[in-house]
Amino acid sequence: MTKLLEGRTALVTGSTSGIGLAIALAFAREGARVMLNGFGTPEAIQAARDEVAAVQGGATPYSAADLSDPAAIRVMCAEATAALGQVDILVNNAGIQFTSPVDEFPEAKWDAIIAINLSSNFHAIKALLPGMKARNWGRIVNVASAHGLVASPFKSAYVTAKHGVVGLTKTVGIEVARSAVTCNAICPGFVRTPLAEAQIPPLAQKHNVSEETALTDFLLEKQPSKRWVEVEEVAAMAVYLCGPNSGAVNGAALSIDGAWTAS
Ligand code: NAD
Repeated sequence: MTKLLEGRTALVTGSTSGIGLAIALAFAREGARVMLNGFGTPEAIQAARDEVAAVQGGATPYSAADLSDPAAIRVMCAEATAALGQVDILVNNAGIQFTSPVDEFPEAKWDAIIAINLSSNFHAIKALLPGMKARNWGRIVNVASAHGLVASPFKSAYVTAKHGVVGLTKTVGIEVARSAVTCNAICPGFVRTPLAEAQIPPLAQKHNVSEETALTDFLLEKQPSKRWVEVEEVAAMAVYLCGPNSGAVNGAALSIDGAWTAS
C-alpha cells in the first residue's frame, strides 16, 4: 500500500514527548523523513530519536532550539532544511502551560507562553513558507487546543496564545489559498499524556474521590465524551492534513475534543 507521506520531509517542534512525538512517529510510519525538536534529558531525547529512527531508517535529525528565542527558531529551520534537503511539512506543536488568576499571573510566564505557544509558530512559518511557495507544495499544521476556540478560567496566557494560533492559521490559509500549500490548526481537548495523567492522583486526593471520578468529574469536566483523546488520534489527524487528500482543507481549526466545543 502506498504510504501517505512517502518522500515528504517534516519538522515537528516539541516532538521529544507527548503529542509531538506521536506525530513524528506517525509521519515516519507513513514514509516521511522527520526532524525532531524539544527539551528533555539526554537519555529521553536519544530514546525519542532512536524510536523515530527505527521507523524511518537512518539517524533522526534533532534541534535543541529553545522556541522562546526567534533567532534560535531561524537556526533550527535552516538546520532542518540542510538536514532534510527541504522542509515540506511544518508542525508547530511545542507548548507550555501555566495557571493563575489573571491579576496574579507572573509577567515572565505570560511572556514565555506567548513566545513559545504563539510567536514561535509565526517565526517558523516565516522561515519555511518561502520554500513551500517556491516548490508549490507545503503543509503547515499548528497544534492549537480547544482553548483556541473557548476559554477556561486561570489560563489567560494559554487561551490568548491558542486563540492567536487559530487567527494566524486562518490568515496564512487565506494568503496561500491559490497555491498547493495549506495551513490548518488542530484543536485537541484533553489528550492522554504522562503530564496530563499525572494530574489525576492529586485531584483525587484534593476532592477525596476515586481516581476514576477525579478523571471524569473534574479533569474531564468539560469533555462530554468523558474519555481522553489519545495521542495517536491527534497524530492521525495530522497525517490526514499533510497527506494527498486534504488539499481543500485550509485555514481551518479542526476540533478533536470529544464534543467539548460543541456546546
Ligand atoms: P508535552 O509537554 O508532552 O510536550 C511539549 C513539547 O514541547 C516537549 O517536547 C517539550 O520539550 C517541548 N517544549 C516546551 N518548551 C519548549 C521550548 N521553549 N522550546 C522547544 N521545545 C519546547 O505536552 P503535549 O501535551 O504533548 O503538548 C503538545 C502541544 O499540544 C502543546 O502545544 C499543547 O498546548 C497542545 N495541547 C495539549 C493538550 C493535552 O491535553 N495534552 C490539549 C490541547 C493542546
